[in-house]
Amino acid sequence: MNALWSEARVKVSHRLAMHVQVEYFRLHNATPMVSFTFDDLAKSAATVGADILESYGARGTFYVSGGLVGSDTPNWTTGTADDVVSLHRRGHEVGCHTFSHRRACDLDEASLAAEIARNRAYFNSLNPSMAIETFAYPFGYGSYARKHLLKSEFRTCRSIVPGVNAGEVDPQFLRAMPLIDRQLSHDRIDRAFDEAEAGNGWLIFYGHDVAERPSLYGCTPHLMIYALEAAARRNIPTLTMAEAFQCARA
Ligand SMILES: [Zn+2]
Repeated sequence: MNALWSEARVKVSHRLAMHVQVEYFRLHNATPMVSFTFDDLAKSAATVGADILESYGARGTFYVSGGLVGSDTPNWTTGTADDVVSLHRRGHEVGCHTFSHRRACDLDEASLAAEIARNRAYFNSLNPSMAIETFAYPFGYGSYARKHLLKSEFRTCRSIVPGVNAGEVDPQFLRAMPLIDRQLSHDRIDRAFDEAEAGNGWLIFYGHDVAERPSLYGCTPHLMIYALEAAARRNIPTLTMAEAFQCARA
């Protein structure tokens, strides 16, 4: 019963986080934009995924939980600390999850602050020049109660609620499309880009591993290239989350 009650509270907090903003922000980017983000440092994303992005002259944002680095999951092999540093050196953005990958909605204010501080300290120990400016909700669960803290720590927080960000958006709950073969068709990619063009929007993709035979949460190189080709054809710049937010503020 306790577990049920706590899951019910989680869902309410997540829905509130989705619908109630703590900040009103209007996008002012000059052109539509797209960002590719990868969560949890799958080794294949840090290698194959990053290489594909770079072959298009693009960079991505990689949301990392320091506590998971180097520990494999049933779904994929996880990258190492060297992969984190290599991504940073190659110009990709390293973004913040919670250190232990616990959901923001399960943490009180002090615990979430401690998780963020620990993750920042981890990145700082790898390379002090890493600026950690953006956050992604672990497991995609937002927390209304924690949005003020997150706003004070990061420029943006990315959810996994599908949609294209346009006009007035919630920087603490940006929408994102799954870069996941099981969930995203070529047609849906085209329509998302149509929407971004029509509304001068910011299209964000999120994924995990990048492999010929991806996990249930990952994508093939083919799907990623399809999205990058669509962006190139439409002259839509591919930017990291921090870069795109900077353009949106202009
Ligand atoms: Zn994650």
